[in-house]
Amino acid sequence: MEIDDINTITVLGAGNMGHGIAEVAALAGYDVYMRDIKEEFVQNGYEGIEWSLNKLAENDRITQDTADAALDRVTPVVDMEEAVSSTDFLIEAVPEQMEIKKDVYGDVEQYAPDGAIFATNTSSLSITELSEVTERPERFCGMHFFNPPVRMDLVEVITGEHTDEETLELTEALAADFGKTPVRVHRDAPGFIVNRVLVPLMNEAAWLVSEEQATITEVDSTTKFDIGHPMGAFELGDQVGNDVSYHVLQYMNEVLGEAYEPAPLLAEKVENEELGKKTGKGFYDYEDGPGAEIPADEGSEFVEARLLASMANEVAKLIGGDIAPPESIDEAVTLGGGWPEGPVAVVDDYGLQSLLETLEEAYEETGHERYRPDDYLRERAEEGGFYDAEEADTEGYTYDTIAVEINERVGRLSIDRPHRMNTITTDMIEEIDDALDRLVEDDEVRAILLTGAGDRAFSAGFDASTAAAGSGLETAELSRRGQHVFGRLEEVPKPVLAAIDGYCLGGGMELAACADMRIASERSQFGQPEHNLGLMPGWGGTQRLPRIVGEGRAKEIIFTADNDYDPETMSDYGFVNEVVSTEGFEDRAWELACDLAAGPPIAQKLTKRAMLAGRDDIDAGLEYEASSFGHLFTTDDLWEGLSAFQGDREPEFEGE
Ligand code: NAD
Repeated sequence: MEIDDINTITVLGAGNMGHGIAEVAALAGYDVYMRDIKEEFVQNGYEGIEWSLNKLAENDRITQDTADAALDRVTPVVDMEEAVSSTDFLIEAVPEQMEIKKDVYGDVEQYAPDGAIFATNTSSLSITELSEVTERPERFCGMHFFNPPVRMDLVEVITGEHTDEETLELTEALAADFGKTPVRVHRDAPGFIVNRVLVPLMNEAAWLVSEEQATITEVDSTTKFDIGHPMGAFELGDQVGNDVSYHVLQYMNEVLGEAYEPAPLLAEKVENEELGKKTGKGFYDYEDGPGAEIPADEGSEFVEARLLASMANEVAKLIGGDIAPPESIDEAVTLGGGWPEGPVAVVDDYGLQSLLETLEEAYEETGHERYRPDDYLRERAEEGGFYDAEEADTEGYTYDTIAVEINERVGRLSIDRPHRMNTITTDMIEEIDDALDRLVEDDEVRAILLTGAGDRAFSAGFDASTAAAGSGLETAELSRRGQHVFGRLEEVPKPVLAAIDGYCLGGGMELAACADMRIASERSQFGQPEHNLGLMPGWGGTQRLPRIVGEGRAKEIIFTADNDYDPETMSDYGFVNEVVSTEGFEDRAWELACDLAAGPPIAQKLTKRAMLAGRDDIDAGLEYEASSFGHLFTTDDLWEGLSAFQGDREPEFEGE
């Protein structure tokens, strides 16, 4: 069978998921039979579809005609024979109980055409066991939608033991035709991918509180604000329902072993019927209290390490157990959990070796199975990460005194003389000039991150010995050349972020002044100490610094020649946009650079140019602004921005 041979779809169950799946299939142009056991239930589901389609039309996501046509394609039925006798593809979404599902498949087999494919939307039951009650176990697989199907992009496509490749490919093609992103799960293991990551993470959070190692507030502040998840672990638990998490864990516990023993806190919540939002109370009180109010600054490094260590262990089991490769895990969890970055990338970034040590310590301390490090984790920790370093999506250009790396649309230009405090040489100026040519040209690069290699300096200034060593440049010429190259950085038509960690002095500070934004770690130190040597700033410092901090402050900085300005003061002066803790610095710099890289390239370029044009002549600047503003209305990016805003999603700007 090919995807074009699929015209009629049957959805069994018109409940929460069933009616949503039927809606998605009808919207994609399929004829849909939606079946439930009572007229009343199918009717409720049908009305749910109608309501949701009208909502989409009201919000201009689809036209009213499209909504009406989709609803016309849905036939609500109670009679099983009518529901399945002409079906090409059946999706079952009846209650999550093995016996009910087995009965349903028994009935279905009596009427369904031999060639039809069966897919179950089960969240946790064994696909293999279900397939074995049918006469077509090879044409049977899991097709796990997320709630609500009309909004959630992810569909996990799960292989049962008997499923053939054609069935999997067809199911993936169908999910794609529904406008969803299919992610294959290679083995029928409890929780598949997303729940296998989210639920044990929630359990670990609950264990930490049960064992009085942390408070709910600390855990949620850490997950939401330090790790960057859309919700705190307990906040999410309350949303999902503590009974649901508990049952998934019990099932994992049964099939996968002691590592999944539900935490006492979770068991207690279920016992007290504090199931979360749906009962008005869970970890937070939604009826008599304010619900989940999570402070931004009560996170703890200990909690972060424990949670990430558990997560690293879990993804090791998924990858090492051939359930899914790193890319699929990251894709599934970013889509299914709304995480900004996938769990594998997160633990790789944090450092597997250190997470392994955290696990080992915790295992020694508690003896609990959940902390027993998986062998595959040990293996990858030794290799430096789950992703193969050589396969990483990184490219760059080679230089002697700087390093340029391109990753995720960010061009990172690092001053690379850490042994000499990243001081700037005449050769370096030429290399920066060349790198800028390439970074500007390269359409893959949407933002530039300017940093210093090592952990002591962004750049401690000019290395005067390289001029004396006979570069052939007269000193005035040296100043002009530096001014020119640094000026080019200021004019780069893409956002430039300087990430300052350590010394940022003299020429280094002049270089940083050319960036559009500057962030600094708490341990950074700033200054223009040239007057101490009887010199003066020569790479634009007398011009750019006053523009940024005002003439009075610029004179203070240059005349005092103090090289010990702290980042807070520089932030008060307006030179530094954000001061970040030294530990969190690298992550925050990268996050901000990625945010800038996701911005609208044409609007960014024109904004920079309008500001430059208005430097000396406000009328010229305003005129540039007006014509640019008009131009933006002719770009695709504007429409993308508007539709993303209306659709409440992140825009994807193309620079067109
Ligand atoms: P639900 O209780 O809302 O709906 C199930 C429906 O199936 C009910 O309307 C019920 O009357 C009907 N039903 C019972 N026996 C039937 C039969 N013999 N034939 C046809 N219909 C029958 O449950 P739900 O939340 O929609 O879950 C359905 C399935 O989807 C479960 O397997 C569940 O694990 C899975 N799932 C649920 C979610 C979620 O967030 N709710 C997410 C992913 C997957």
